[in-house]
Amino acid sequence: MQGFNKYYPPDYDGEKHKSLNSYRGKHALGDRARKIDQGILITRFELPFNIWCGTCNNHIGMGVRYNAEKKKIGNYYSTPIYSFRCKCHLCDGWFEIQTDPKNTRYVVTSGARQKQEDWDPEENGGFAVHNTDPNEAPIDPLAALEKSTEAQNHMNKVQIPRLEALQSLADHYGDDPYTLSKLARKRFREEKKVEKEKQAADDALKGRYGLPETLKLTRDDEATQAKDKEEWERGKREFASRDRNKRRKLELVGIVPRNQLGSSSSSGSGRSSNAAELLRARILTNTARQKPGASTPRK
Ligand SMILES: [Zn+2]
Repeated sequence: MQGFNKYYPPDYDGEKHKSLNSYRGKHALGDRARKIDQGILITRFELPFNIWCGTCNNHIGMGVRYNAEKKKIGNYYSTPIYSFRCKCHLCDGWFEIQTDPKNTRYVVTSGARQKQEDWDPEENGGFAVHNTDPNEAPIDPLAALEKSTEAQNHMNKVQIPRLEALQSLADHYGDDPYTLSKLARKRFREEKKVEKEKQAADDALKGRYGLPETLKLTRDDEATQAKDKEEWERGKREFASRDRNKRRKLELVGIVPRNQLGSSSSSGSGRSSNAAELLRARILTNTARQKPGASTPRK
């Protein structure tokens, strides 16, 4: 019985016995470790494929479980190879199955026959997926040499310089992150200051002239100022020429005297006809009036 219940008998001495298991002379794995001195551990093993027992010739299905004797029998590189020795449940014959780390599978080594049910692409008109034929002819050594030389050249001429360049670039940027960060932050602060001043000036201007908040103002530098001035003068010229045209039209119609736009044109008898003509003149000026197209500069 394993020491599950942690009952410590009166004659148990921790110094001497170390553990309850050793006090009782038992292994921690209990009965499963009864052959541990031969390197055998009893484990539950499930058949990974269908087999025929070699002794009684009965078919045993995949998934049947046995209390198998598990034993390490070797290594494939650093991976241990285990063998599982099972006793047939239909007779008293033993059979043994081993792991095969190289091909990641199990193989029957003795006492039974494995039913081959693996899908073989070659057998079914396809190509072999894994070429593990040991008798395969060696590859052309010259071709292999050429290939490896090419690879070496590529490594020397392209890959290594590129890696070095990347490395030096990384060194350049990652050398002193504190200074770089300081520089960047200083610049950001300066830019932010300028931007803030500009924003304040714009806001003040908008407040002064009651301009909408969403209005976007152009940058105030020499080029814009010159352009604005030009626009202003163009607008002025257009206005003057329109004014001249209007005056000429009125003169042609004969409402306005040739020298002065009528302040006092007539009196007495012709008053009613004069009023009609004045109305006509007003209508004409209204039709002659155009939309003011010139934009006004902002300062
Ligand atoms: Zn059997």
